Amino acid sequence: MDKNDLQPHPTWEVVDSTKLQEYASCARYYFFCRVLGWILEGPNINLVFGKTWHICMEHIHVKGYTLEAIQEAAALGEEYFRRFFPPITDALNEPKIPGILPIALAEYVARYKSDNFEVLFSEIGGTVPIDDKRFLHLRIDLIVRDHDRHGQIVAPEHKTSKRRGYFEKYTKDIQSGTYTHALYCSFPKEEVFGVEINGAVFLKRERDFQRIPAKRTPQGMLEWLWTVQHWCDRLEWDFAELNECSENDDVMMAFPKNTESCSKYGPCKYYDICHARTNPLQLPEPPPGYEVDWWDPRKEESKATLDPRGKIISIEKEENESQIVESPTVVDVSKTEEAAVSALDRARAKVAQSKKS
Ligand code: SF4
Repeated sequence: MDKNDLQPHPTWEVVDSTKLQEYASCARYYFFCRVLGWILEGPNINLVFGKTWHICMEHIHVKGYTLEAIQEAAALGEEYFRRFFPPITDALNEPKIPGILPIALAEYVARYKSDNFEVLFSEIGGTVPIDDKRFLHLRIDLIVRDHDRHGQIVAPEHKTSKRRGYFEKYTKDIQSGTYTHALYCSFPKEEVFGVEINGAVFLKRERDFQRIPAKRTPQGMLEWLWTVQHWCDRLEWDFAELNECSENDDVMMAFPKNTESCSKYGPCKYYDICHARTNPLQLPEPPPGYEVDWWDPRKEESKATLDPRGKIISIEKEENESQIVESPTVVDVSKTEEAAVSALDRARAKVAQSKKS
């Protein structure tokens, strides 16, 4: 019988790459964020802008590198961003603001105008097996057949950053291995190239773009598999230990702290509550400034799904025609340059406008 009052939440059973990476970084962070579901109140600009850029990328990759697609993508991105941040916050959030989207998209299109791929699927959600009874949840942005890579299958993974040199780490992380595993589950192995990190750097006055292949060898995939199984084993062990922990204990002997991670990427958002207590079960509710929200990757919308074997099995009928592009995305260079100039002008006007207000 459990020795504490914690009520299990359905998301405890849902494990994805992000959660495993967090757990590997610090189990106590995982406890606060994913077991208790305590998160900082208010939207996170990095998460919101990252999702905004994903929406834009998905649109222009599916619709093609055209002026119309850039305009539509920027409008879709702005619509999403404004659900969380009103224009008055732009001065604080620059350069991660919607006014920059048309210019950044035009620059992206100009930079990659020679892309030669066909989009097979976008917004793919589901699970991939990691042994005969456990799964990892995942959501892949895009799967393309790249004709510049002899028709091999690539999953571009869109990332944003405010500084250069930030994307290399994603080529070795759990997530890129999970996506590669999903590709191997759905396509003949000789056709699979793997993941490519599609990075966009948003500096104060300019943008930069960087693509880094995250290809893995068969041994690399075996190592990925052992790693995710290992962390899932440890996670299950910690949940079992948690059942044995009580509010009356001096120390909570589950989900141990990894103090090496406290300031790795800036100060940890749980620093004060984490180090004020040796047994967080004694905290009756989230402290001021925190709210309860269990993130659930299953709630993200998907246009294609994966079956329990990790194989892509279905695409919504209506989306089928519009989402699967039969011919390679065509890039009209003259129109792209026109688009860049006109989008740049409009973006500058928008940024100037948002600064005034
Ligand atoms: S403050 Fe440090 S030990 Fe505590 S949850 Fe954050 S990273 Fe882990």
